[in-house]
Amino acid sequence: MAAFESALYRPAAVDYSQPEIGEVEKLMSDFPETARTKLKRLPKRGVFDREIVNAILDEGFICHVGFAVDDQPFVIPTGYTRAGDQLFIHGSQASRMLRKLGEGIDVCVTVTLIDGLVLARSAFHHSMNYRSVIVFGHARLVEDRAEKITALRALSDHMIPGRWDDVREPNEEELKLTTVLALPLAEASAKIRTGPPLDDEEDYDMKVWAGVIPLRLIANQPIADPRLPKDIEPPSYATDYKRSNPSRR
Ligand SMILES: Cc1cc2nc3c(=O)[nH]c(=O)nc-3n(C[C@H](O)[C@H](O)[C@H](O)COP(=O)(O)OP(=O)(O)OC[C@H]3O[C@@H](n4cnc5c(N)ncnc54)[C@H](O)[C@@H]3O)c2cc1C
Repeated sequence: MAAFESALYRPAAVDYSQPEIGEVEKLMSDFPETARTKLKRLPKRGVFDREIVNAILDEGFICHVGFAVDDQPFVIPTGYTRAGDQLFIHGSQASRMLRKLGEGIDVCVTVTLIDGLVLARSAFHHSMNYRSVIVFGHARLVEDRAEKITALRALSDHMIPGRWDDVREPNEEELKLTTVLALPLAEASAKIRTGPPLDDEEDYDMKVWAGVIPLRLIANQPIADPRLPKDIEPPSYATDYKRSNPSRR
């Protein structure tokens, strides 16, 4: 078990060690289990520990924002960051998603990290190793100028740590055209699957390969803008870009 587990990709900062392969026990319930976040399906994979939820949120940078307008559900992918107990998303003033969320309608945000494809001996038991978070709540329009700049900086730092210090900050017009929303991290759940496939006992004798194909997001070498002067070298945050060790807040 140990050798198998160590072959799986794990971010360094948080201990995801498991009491039992394929399942996690519920840890200290930092987030209260609500009617919406109580896991019905495979509840042992549920995690409400704030440190683990935060670690998943800090490693990802794309979320899917779910909301309904006139009974029509939409699920829109977008960037985000976490700062303390809030998620921040931003975008064009013209975005329907941001306008509607700014009105305080119900929102559900999902973040998904894929750690591996799980190949079982039967088609039925194929699975994925993953860490995912779902957050429910109501977003708040960030109107205070200082808070807005802080949130934009946090969004930038979250995706490319160090970039904000090197570039021109948004001017007044750009700030006006940008909407920033804050979603409190008050009602959230995580779900985690790790480990090998869980096959039916009678299938373990089959002569077919089974195991995990670990997956991770890696950056290739940066490609300079064709209009970049030749004497400007890429910064280390571009040449050594990694998602596995995001800055902790
Ligand atoms: C990459 C990936 C691939 C998956 N593939 C499949 C698949 O092929 N088939 C499948 O049935 N399921 C899959 N799942 C699991 C899926 O996300 C659901 O957990 C599962 O389908 C149960 O759904 P449900 O509506 O019955 O959840 P319920 O248990 O009814 O959900 C109740 C509450 O539990 C929490 N919850 C449920 N799922 C998650 C989650 N993934 N992350 C965080 N909180 C959660 C939420 O707060 C939710 O409101 C996958 C998950 C991931 C991340």
